[in-house]
Amino acid sequence: MFNLILFGPPGAGKGTQSAKLIDKYQLVHISTGDLFRAHIQQETELGKKVKALLASGELVSDAITIAMLEEEIGNHPAARGFIFDGFPRTVAQAEALDKFLEGRGDKIGTVIALDVDEDELRKRIAERHKVSNRPDDAAEKLVKRIDEYFGKTIHVLPFYEGQGKLRHVNGIGEIDAIFSELCQVIDEHLK
Ligand code: ADP
Repeated sequence: MFNLILFGPPGAGKGTQSAKLIDKYQLVHISTGDLFRAHIQQETELGKKVKALLASGELVSDAITIAMLEEEIGNHPAARGFIFDGFPRTVAQAEALDKFLEGRGDKIGTVIALDVDEDELRKRIAERHKVSNRPDDAAEKLVKRIDEYFGKTIHVLPFYEGQGKLRHVNGIGEIDAIFSELCQVIDEHLK
């Protein structure tokens, strides 16, 4: 198994790069944001519970998020590995993921942080807002999401740094150039 965490602020390009990586490495992509949006669209109980939170840009509780993630991992018994995108977003989530994987005789291989500065993030999400129908892409909601990132999520980095698993890739530039840098980091780990 090879499990990768693609880490980065909202708008860093995690979704775009994940789509390319799952193709090349035959991994299963798990985006907690996408999972929540699917629940909202299908109007499940969970979807009803988290709809307002997502629209506001606030994080969903750890308990709900972890339970959903563990269920999704369980839905892919034949997976060769996973790319986690948008998870973990808190240290408690990171600890829960380690514990869950350990229980399956598995672990996180590498964590790659896609580095993008705040100005660039704002520009990208403003562009995306023109074409996406994500209510949380609106400028006033973005403030909350960036706050959540710098307030809670950024603390996940020292957690993995301490485990010696953290690598950085510059998230600004051509999509294909960033992709090939990601592949280099992964191939280095896999060899
Ligand atoms: P982004 O563009 O910010 O990376 P995502 O699609 O990953 O957006 O997430 C959208 C929203 O879903 C978040 O603002 C949050 O409300 C919720 N969410 C997604 N993943 C998590 C998580 N791991 N923990 C808590 N909330 C989450």
